[in-house]
Amino acid sequence: MVTSSPFRHGWRNLWIALLIPGFHLPAAEVDAGEPEPLFNDAHFHLLDYVQRGIAAREYFDMVGDRVGRVAMFGIPLQQKWDYFVSGERAPHYYLHSDAALYYYSFVDAVIAREYLSLSDAQKRRVDPMITGFNPTDMYAADHIRRVLLTFPGVFSGIGEFSIHKEFVSSKVTGHTASLRNPALDRILSTVAEIGLVAILHCDVARVRPGERPAHYDDLLGVLAAHPDASVIWAHTGLGRFVHPTDQHLVLLDEMLSDSRYDHVMLDISWDEVARYAVRDANTVDGWAALMEKHPTRFLFGTDSVAPRNWDAYVTTHKVYHPLWERLDADVRAQVERLNYGRVFDAAVPRVRAWEQRQLSGQ
Ligand SMILES: [Zn+2]
Repeated sequence: MVTSSPFRHGWRNLWIALLIPGFHLPAAEVDAGEPEPLFNDAHFHLLDYVQRGIAAREYFDMVGDRVGRVAMFGIPLQQKWDYFVSGERAPHYYLHSDAALYYYSFVDAVIAREYLSLSDAQKRRVDPMITGFNPTDMYAADHIRRVLLTFPGVFSGIGEFSIHKEFVSSKVTGHTASLRNPALDRILSTVAEIGLVAILHCDVARVRPGERPAHYDDLLGVLAAHPDASVIWAHTGLGRFVHPTDQHLVLLDEMLSDSRYDHVMLDISWDEVARYAVRDANTVDGWAALMEKHPTRFLFGTDSVAPRNWDAYVTTHKVYHPLWERLDADVRAQVERLNYGRVFDAAVPRVRAWEQRQLSGQ
């Protein structure tokens, strides 16, 4: 499916490297004999809604060298198996039961342990993320700091965490998460201070669309208030039932063209989102044109949840095939691989330095 030559950018980058001090050749291009990975995955759930999944080592057995790097996380919410609701039927997805979801903080210890079980070469390909906090709790930022200092040298960011999400928000025990909650401001201030990457799920609208997407303006307000926080807006705000309106790409273009949101990236993960983009030749053209106008702002991710095998894992990438074919090769490389490196490579040294300062009492 991917037929690009490993030399695709080799000569051009070699010239850039010679001309620009500090420009680093991507590792895959230093050794032109190594094939490039198909993609970096900016959105991968090792575990599902009942904290079951695959081991990080099994992930690498599955992908081999077909994937370069991966942002790896669990899911912050646990689907309760409430016997009084479903009896012997054990739900493992939030749509399987009317029982509540609750925040499951132990997920961060599980992800840290999985990361620490990897070889050094594998660790260099993983960006583990903290998810086990309640984004309505003013203490959520304390949890993030505590996890970083309990497992120094491990985490690169936080998320995917959800504020507004179809059918999920209303199932979570306790206070409903909201863009207007100051607890979210504390979280994003912490992200900016430490240098973390935040993967934020926030539907752009409610399932029943209104004139203007219900959450879009509030989201822009929150993002504009935290210009130093590196934020990835998951799925460009779309969901299984939150379909793109005619205005969706126009709104994204407005945001991407506005310098107040230069710190915001969009991930195009989830096969449901991919199906919107490739619905017909017009939608493919529309998404491709937006990416070509803003080539540094999009990240591919699978949004695969605890996949059983490669075919299950790679579904989203396959669904996007018409888009990959349509995109200019340079833009495609940015979306599939290069933007990932830029975002996470900017974050990780800052996070490690913050941990060092904290742990050495400076
Ligand atoms: Zn996800």
